[in-house]
Amino acid sequence: MSSFVNDVMAEVKAKNPAEPEFHQAVQEVAESVDLVYERHPEYRAAKIFERIIEPERLIMFRVAWTDDRGEVRINRGFRIQMNSAIGPYKGGLRFHPSVTLGILKFLAFEQVFKNSLTSLPMGGAKGGSDFDPKGKSDREVMRFCQSFMNELYRHIGADTDVPAGDIGVGGREIGFLYGQYKKLVNEFTGVLTGKSLSWGGSLIRPEATGYGAVYMASEMLATRSETLKGKVCLVSGSGNVAQYTVEKLLQFGAKPVTLSDSNGYIYDEAGIDAEKLKFVMDLKNVRRGRIKEYADKYKSAVFTAVDPKQDFNPLWNHKAQCAFPSATQNEINRKDAENLVKNGVYVVSEGANMPTIAEGVEVFLDRKILYAPGKAANAGGVAVSGLEMSQNSMRLPWPREEVDSRLQQIMKNIHRTCVETAERFGTPGNYVNGANIGGFLKVANAMLDQGIV
Ligand code: NDP
Repeated sequence: MSSFVNDVMAEVKAKNPAEPEFHQAVQEVAESVDLVYERHPEYRAAKIFERIIEPERLIMFRVAWTDDRGEVRINRGFRIQMNSAIGPYKGGLRFHPSVTLGILKFLAFEQVFKNSLTSLPMGGAKGGSDFDPKGKSDREVMRFCQSFMNELYRHIGADTDVPAGDIGVGGREIGFLYGQYKKLVNEFTGVLTGKSLSWGGSLIRPEATGYGAVYMASEMLATRSETLKGKVCLVSGSGNVAQYTVEKLLQFGAKPVTLSDSNGYIYDEAGIDAEKLKFVMDLKNVRRGRIKEYADKYKSAVFTAVDPKQDFNPLWNHKAQCAFPSATQNEINRKDAENLVKNGVYVVSEGANMPTIAEGVEVFLDRKILYAPGKAANAGGVAVSGLEMSQNSMRLPWPREEVDSRLQQIMKNIHRTCVETAERFGTPGNYVNGANIGGFLKVANAMLDQGIV
C-alpha cells in the first residue's frame, strides 16, 4: 500500500470506527486516486481526496409512527449529503433493517463518482432508514413515509437535494413521500425522482438501472467482438434492478437462469422467459411474496435456501458466461469470485452497489475478465433520474424511445470513459481504475475551481 493510501485509511478508520463498508469503498477509490496524485500534485496539495471523504452534511433523525395495532414505533432516519461540487445532491433512499450510518456513507461516497460518470450535473448523497417495509400494510408504510418526510423536507429541494428509490423504496414509497412533501411545502416541484408517470415521472426510470447494467455488459463484450446472444446469465436479487436486467437480457437473446431474495435463490435450467418474468414481477411488486414460490410454480426450477453455515453462495456456482449481481453489497466473496471464473463467467456487470468484496474484485482483475464495478455499471438509474429532473424543470415529458436512446448513449460514454481513463493511467482493461479516476477528475476539478470550502 502506498503512503498516501496508508495515511488516508488510518485517518478514515480512526475517525469513522465500526463502518467497514465505508472503509472498503474509500480504500478502493484511494488506490485508484493514488495513480492520479502521482501525476497531478495540485490535487494532493489541495487535499481534494481528503475533503471528498468527509460528508458535507450529515443528518440523522428520529422517525416515530404508529402501526396498525396502535403501537408506537421508532426508527432512525438519515440523509448523507456527501458532495455538491458538480450539482445538487442526488442519491437514493434505502429502507432496510440493515441500514446504518456506515452503510449509507459508503453508498453516498460511491454515488459521488457514479453521478460524475454520467456527465450530468448531480452531486452525491444517500439516505434511508432501518425501517423494514416487509410484512407492513400499505397504511403502515404510508404513515412511516409521512413521518420520515416530516423531518427530511427541510433538507431537500429541487435545486438542493433530490432523493430517489433504492432497496425497499419503490414507486409506492416515492408516492407517499412526495405526497407529504407537497403538503408541507405547498410546491409541485421535481424534489424526488422515480415518480409515477401521471405526476412527473419519467418513462424508462423503473427500467433504467437493470437496462443500463445490460447495456454495459454489451459494450464490454463488443470490445471482444461478441454479443449477449445465447449467453447464460446468473442474476441475483429479484427486485427492481434484477427484474429489468432479466427483461433486457431476454431482449438481447441471452438466457437468464437465476434470481434470489434474502431467503434463497432459484435456478431454472430452462431459462427465465418473458412469461416467467411476468410472474416474478407480480409476485414481488404486487403480492410481495418470496422467490421460493417460483420453484413451486415452475417445475424446471430448483429453490435453494440460504445456508448461513456455508462459506460461499451456490447461486454463483453454476456454469454461465455472465453474472449480474443485483441484490446488495458484499454478496460475492473471494470463493464466489473464484467459483464464477471456474464456471466460465468472463463478464460481470454489477447492478448492485459494491456487491463484490475487495478480495473478489482482485480475482476478477487478476483473471482479466470483463468486470464493470457498480459505480459504472448501475449508473443508468441515476442517469435517468437526472433526465427526470430535466423533464420536470422543462415541464415536458420525453417519449420512451428518446429516454432509452439517451440512456444507451450515457452507458456507451461511461464505458468509453472507463476504457480510455484506465489506459491513460497505465492500467488498460481495468474498469475499476477507469471508473474511479473518471468519476474523480470531474469532481476534483470543480472543487479546485470553487476554492477551499
Ligand atoms: P429492491 O428492494 O427492489 O430489491 C432488492 C433485492 O435484493 C430483493 O430481492 C431483496 O430480497 C434482495 N436483498 C436485499 N438485501 C438483501 C440481503 N441483505 N441479502 C440478500 N438479498 C437481499 O432493490 P433494488 O433492486 O432497487 O436494489 C438492488 C441493488 O441495486 C442495491 O444494491 C441498490 O443499491 C442497487 N441500485 C439500485 C438502483 C435503483 O435504481 N433501484 C440504482 C443503482 C443501484 P428481499 O426481498 O428478501 O429483501
